[in-house]
Amino acid sequence: MPAQDVFDIFVIGGGINGCGIARDAVGRGYSVALAEMDDFASGTSSRATKLIHGGLRYLEHYEFRLVRESLMEREVLWAMAPHIIWPMRFVLPFHKGGIRPAWLIRLGLFLYDHIGGRKLLPATRTLDMRRDPAAKPLKALFTKAFEYSDGWVDDARLVVLNARDAAQKGARIMTRSRVVSARREGGLWSVDVENDASGVVNTFKARMLINAAGPWVDVVLSNAVGKNKVHNVRLVQGSHIVVKKKFDDLRAYFFQNPDNRIIFAIPYETDFTLIGTTDSDFTGDPKNIQITDGEINYLCNAASEYFSEPVKPADVVWTYSGVRPLYDDGASKAQEATRDYVLKIDANNGDAPLLNVFGGKLTTYRRLSEHALEKIAGAIGAKGAPWTANSVLPGGNFPATGYEAEVAKLKNRYPFLAERHARRLVRLYGTLAVSLLGEIDRAEGLGRHFGADLYEVEVQWLISQEWARRAEDVLWRRTKLGLKLTQAEAAGLEEYMRETIRKVA
Ligand SMILES: Cc1cc2nc3c(=O)[nH]c(=O)nc-3n(C[C@H](O)[C@H](O)[C@H](O)COP(=O)(O)OP(=O)(O)OC[C@H]3O[C@@H](n4cnc5c(N)ncnc54)[C@H](O)[C@@H]3O)c2cc1C
Repeated sequence: MPAQDVFDIFVIGGGINGCGIARDAVGRGYSVALAEMDDFASGTSSRATKLIHGGLRYLEHYEFRLVRESLMEREVLWAMAPHIIWPMRFVLPFHKGGIRPAWLIRLGLFLYDHIGGRKLLPATRTLDMRRDPAAKPLKALFTKAFEYSDGWVDDARLVVLNARDAAQKGARIMTRSRVVSARREGGLWSVDVENDASGVVNTFKARMLINAAGPWVDVVLSNAVGKNKVHNVRLVQGSHIVVKKKFDDLRAYFFQNPDNRIIFAIPYETDFTLIGTTDSDFTGDPKNIQITDGEINYLCNAASEYFSEPVKPADVVWTYSGVRPLYDDGASKAQEATRDYVLKIDANNGDAPLLNVFGGKLTTYRRLSEHALEKIAGAIGAKGAPWTANSVLPGGNFPATGYEAEVAKLKNRYPFLAERHARRLVRLYGTLAVSLLGEIDRAEGLGRHFGADLYEVEVQWLISQEWARRAEDVLWRRTKLGLKLTQAEAAGLEEYMRETIRKVA
């Protein structure tokens, strides 16, 4: 391999942390390659509760550093990507004799409002549940509630937009490419990457290796890097259920359970309610994770304590489960293990350095990346200054509160788009919806119809601009239209994508 093909940094893992680090690094002038063994966000990063939040609950575990950093990030991230991130109000119903006294909740929310650089997000307020519409879907137990601000994010799109921006800035981004081996040779890393489709193994050289493999971080260390006896992360399963919408309000609910845990019930994809999550230790391959009947019952029962109309397992239309790769701090209960991240450099006597990323949240990915860049600078020399705080992710170049105006602009330019379709396109692609639709001037120009409001023009965009290769990439990560398409429609999309990709290859 010619010398110019030595990258400064090779990143293993196309989740939020790998893509965030790659984007930050290439923007500072490092040469960067990234390999993801499956699709972007196919690991934990598409399986979250999808909150950009300070983590009210973490205050109870005294995680003040994490909560403060997370709170500060809410408005930074919202401004970076106002199409896929937006503010959400959370209603925390309260009744006498509940799990936590009112003064404690009020204290937590006071800290929440004041330690996190809140500018645009509205402050906490108290609701009179005898009058507020938020009481409508709930049992008549609550006279009072607190309402506070956090943010919502389309997690899988946050990942792919970071990857796209990194690629546009010059990073070499590879999906369906598994790192099978990484060894130190002549002061550099030699990284063997196996292409999933062809089975071909290519070797890349890099000055520094970043292990951002999320739940597989220890697997990479033992199988690819050849370390013995590694145990850095505690794998904690979290599952969600999706049911037909339980309420019309745009606010989400924060419910406290008798076991001291909390769950959220969140308005989801216009027609649904998302309920989660659980917390239980996980063993096995995170690829095979699935919700258990016990988790479905737990979530249904917990939500039914609050909703007047109970949530039954038969109401569940979709579920998903993910594994939190938490840094193992020796906590006894899964729910008490730290949610903070830990970055560790491995390099002795001039060895090519390795940076391992443990833990982290979607909310803190940008700050985690900045901290990773400090370690990278210390290990292989500094390049540009931090730049992402005032940056914009692809399609996010409009004002934080400008979503409705963007929808109006799109409808004006493409009057044949149905209202829902226009809204969905702006949510997913922001200002890039215009690049996606191009010069189309009538509905027929959208091309083949795959179901719901998915047309060929969008699928082509996702293949050419966002690395989509399989129907599931489109239906469950780039969009959530999997909730709307029938099995036959999804099969039609899969066939179309295979054929299109075969022709291009
Ligand atoms: C149930 C649940 C709810 C959550 N809710 C929230 C929330 O509301 N807000 C929030 O901020 N955070 C939340 N989180 C946390 C957040 O989702 C994770 O911290 C984050 O997604 C982890 O990202 P990651 O990049 O480290 O890991 P991942 O997303 O898992 O990425 C790692 C990637 O590495 C790839 N990989 C592994 N081995 C190899 C290899 N050998 N070669 C190439 N690629 C490889 C994998 O395929 C994977 O895509 C939640 C997590 C869970 C599980």
